[in-house]
Amino acid sequence: MLAGRYDEAELEPPLLDDDGIIAIVKAMLARTGRPPLANPIHHLVRDGLRPIDRSLPGVGHEATDGASVWYRWTADVRELGRRVKHGHAHALLFNEDHNEADAILATAELALPTCVLSRYASADAAAQDALHSPIWLLHQQFERRRTVIERYFLVS
Ligand SMILES: [Zn+2]
Repeated sequence: MLAGRYDEAELEPPLLDDDGIIAIVKAMLARTGRPPLANPIHHLVRDGLRPIDRSLPGVGHEATDGASVWYRWTADVRELGRRVKHGHAHALLFNEDHNEADAILATAELALPTCVLSRYASADAAAQDALHSPIWLLHQQFERRRTVIERYFLVS
């Protein structure tokens, strides 16, 4: 999905562009004053949102009403981080015209923000600091952002 294969993922293409999603996450990081790779609960709380570690009845995935974020708890710290970030992504986009693809892209941007990605030579290197994101998601974000960076700066 992060590579742009929306048909395979049976998702509508995102409504927001890369720059828009990067800017939304960057603004949240500035607003909350916590390091980009901090525990996402700190970002959520500092952003004025209430974390609720159970899913809404009838909703199997993360959800938000713009004030609270619901997510299923798991002992897997990386997967828990992804769930919190995905709920936060939906909250960040709550007042935007957005779809699930936008929320997934924003989750990847929260997992490894573009502003810190260039510090790392690989996704595996980033994984040593990005303790609250699944390894597979870091790989997808790393590949996706590197492609975008190469497209803009290395190809004339
Ligand atoms: Zn979602």
